[in-house]
Amino acid sequence: MIVTIDGPAGSGKSTTAQRAAAQLGYVYLDTGAMYRAVGLGFLRADVPATPEGADRVLPTLDVDVSYRADAMQVLLGDERVTTQIRSAEVGAVVSDISTLASVRDYMVEEQRRIGHEQAEEHGGVVLDGRDTGTVVFPEAAVKVYMVADLDERARRRQQEYEAAGEDVSFEEVRAEIQERDHQDQNRNIAPLHRAEDALVLDTTDRTIAEQVAFVVDRVKAHPAWGT
Ligand code: C5P
Repeated sequence: MIVTIDGPAGSGKSTTAQRAAAQLGYVYLDTGAMYRAVGLGFLRADVPATPEGADRVLPTLDVDVSYRADAMQVLLGDERVTTQIRSAEVGAVVSDISTLASVRDYMVEEQRRIGHEQAEEHGGVVLDGRDTGTVVFPEAAVKVYMVADLDERARRRQQEYEAAGEDVSFEEVRAEIQERDHQDQNRNIAPLHRAEDALVLDTTDRTIAEQVAFVVDRVKAHPAWGT
């Protein structure tokens, strides 16, 4: 069973995908974390987010994931970079590097490999990202497209920054999200958009428990559930 959850920044994808996977006994795959690991690789190699930069750095990068007590860890080579990929520096380059064709080809190939492997072993995978239902797994059994008002998404992101001890104004967070969405929706390759067969879930006025239940119920209603 492959379940995909796509949508703009701050729509609640990762929390929902993570908890739905746990309730279903499936594995969670955060595809944005993998793009962030590639972004970290670019920063460390000090190469620009250009096709030429990608030609230089991609052959030296090995991005993979591992699971520790159900929590997904991102690996860059042998190093766990789960914390480092959340820095503002990585956040600032990740949308640029994710417009590059060679980066996307590499990511899609790895995400399909990991998705198939984990689904085989655990019965199912819940992926979240921008193109998981349109490009990575267009044949997914259940596809969800999560949306929420911009102000609400900015409020949630700001709370996350606050919890991490970072003091960023609401206006700054709002502008950052808006810019990233614009770039993700307007890039040439695999832009963020709803797959025709994706169910839309507006999370503006929903609790996390309701969002998780929405996904879990759809999966359990699928004919392939439990087979
Ligand atoms: O999900 P997260 O906000 O961590 O993703 C970071 C960035 O990675 C996104 O803004 C987007 O540019 C890129 N991304 C992507 N395709 C995905 C997941 C993430 O292009 N499937």
